[in-house]
Amino acid sequence: MVSGPTDHVVVVGAGLGGLSCALRLLGAGRRVTILEREPLPGGRAGRISLGGYQFDTGPTVLTMPELIADALAAVGEDLGDWLTLDPVSPLYRAYYPDGSTLDVHAGTDEMAAEITRVCGAREADGYRRFVRFVTRLYALERDSFIDRNIDSPLDLLTPDLARLAAIGGFRRLQPKLRQFFADPRTLRIFSFQSMYAGLSPYQALAIYAVIAYMDSVAGVYSPVGGMHAVPRALAGAAEKHGVTFRYGTSVTRVELAGDRAVAVHTSDGDRIPCDTVVLTPDLPVAYRTLLPPEVTPPGLRRLVYSPSCFLLLAGSSASYSKIAHHNIHFGRGWRSVFSDIIERGSLMTDPSFLVTSPTMSDPSLAPAGKHCYYVLFPTPNLDADIDWDVIGPRYRDECVAVLERSGYIGFGDAIEVEATTTPADWGRRGMERGAPFAASHTFRQTGPFRPANLAPGLQNVVFAGSGTTPGVGVPMVLISGRLAAERITGP
Ligand SMILES: Cc1cc2nc3c(=O)[nH]c(=O)nc-3n(C[C@H](O)[C@H](O)[C@H](O)COP(=O)(O)OP(=O)(O)OC[C@H]3O[C@@H](n4cnc5c(N)ncnc54)[C@H](O)[C@@H]3O)c2cc1C
Repeated sequence: MVSGPTDHVVVVGAGLGGLSCALRLLGAGRRVTILEREPLPGGRAGRISLGGYQFDTGPTVLTMPELIADALAAVGEDLGDWLTLDPVSPLYRAYYPDGSTLDVHAGTDEMAAEITRVCGAREADGYRRFVRFVTRLYALERDSFIDRNIDSPLDLLTPDLARLAAIGGFRRLQPKLRQFFADPRTLRIFSFQSMYAGLSPYQALAIYAVIAYMDSVAGVYSPVGGMHAVPRALAGAAEKHGVTFRYGTSVTRVELAGDRAVAVHTSDGDRIPCDTVVLTPDLPVAYRTLLPPEVTPPGLRRLVYSPSCFLLLAGSSASYSKIAHHNIHFGRGWRSVFSDIIERGSLMTDPSFLVTSPTMSDPSLAPAGKHCYYVLFPTPNLDADIDWDVIGPRYRDECVAVLERSGYIGFGDAIEVEATTTPADWGRRGMERGAPFAASHTFRQTGPFRPANLAPGLQNVVFAGSGTTPGVGVPMVLISGRLAAERITGP
């Protein structure tokens, strides 16, 4: 716990982690100031507007909206008054190299029917067993491991740990899934989520099948106004309840007096006194740039980072009648995707990629009759020897060519506006090793082994966001904000 006074808390960063934390602090009666470098809230869940097109710049797959409701409830606000969330159906459309497609539905019966259509009835039986497995996994992991501050490996020793082991949670994901699925298509669609945690399904433990629970079982939602509507809603509620926001304000350092933070300094030369500080910039970058080197935990240098991605945002006059809101295109190789990106540090030889078209759910994001496309190709992070400033434009052309070969006929010619983000750009935006998905979730970098949300040796410096516990992704960073606030206010 933070010790000493906590009346005025400065939160650095208005991303989802910082906003979630601020709402909890407000609810507990603290005075909160948020300092944000950019002119708008959201951080990775940002927004760019180009020629009448509105693009989300980061997350597109929204799961577990009850966590947004929970953050708003901390100040007595109702989600329905701030956001309209439409269920996305199908959740994903998967495209396989043999030309077949599989729609993923949240309803177990509907999904079993789809699997029966594509892969046969036996595979659908396996799917029903898989749903029971991941539902149990989620129930066991949520309360004991995800939703609380864990300070020591000993805290892991709960009855739920034994139960997780008993159901096979500590086996590798891919072999575990083979207990349920025989068809490579179902194996892929229910295991690719380990990439969200920065791991290949061959490397990840089966406990990470919980991510498949969060989207493929619990459902995917599309906010009206796009994903950026989520941070806008949280920031709106925070402002209504008295948070002072200072946008366009870069924090340059935290001033310490002994083992207490007493103020933060900004690039404008301001000194803002505080009783407690919450840091939400990428954790290793926050240690390196905002705190003195002697407080940095030595283990930080050994962290292993998730892969990165190349993002192409395109505003286009083309529409594709056969696509869904979220489309996952699998290449012929599967193991090779992970060995290319994670082991060899090279670009995918046979790409698998995501195409999201948010205008399928909310046409107001583009000019009338036009469409937004969000195309994400996984890549190595900046640990790999790739000069993105040289190859970026060439890789963009390659991605367009792959899209055109995958059924997006005339994609390149129909682009009216576009923006690309390379791993080098993620790095320039303050993400360690250009890895927007933070340190990967190997067992050694999870729970009590992940960088803690309390700065060791300091009384009142707390972290939130994807670099600390519980981890990466919208649901996890919303929880990280609550866990950070609980360090200050108590649970
Ligand atoms: C391309 C991409 C796709 C993704 N897809 C999904 C998805 O589909 N579903 C999902 O659940 N998750 C997804 N994620 C992950 C998810 O977006 C992140 O885990 C989450 O948004 C991180 O939130 P955060 O609050 O930790 O960090 P951030 O959003 O990075 O917030 C940190 C904030 O701090 C500010 N800041 C940094 N330094 C300073 C400073 N010195 N002074 C002041 N302010 C500063 C930044 O501007 C930023 O606003 C995706 C991420 C990316 C990048």
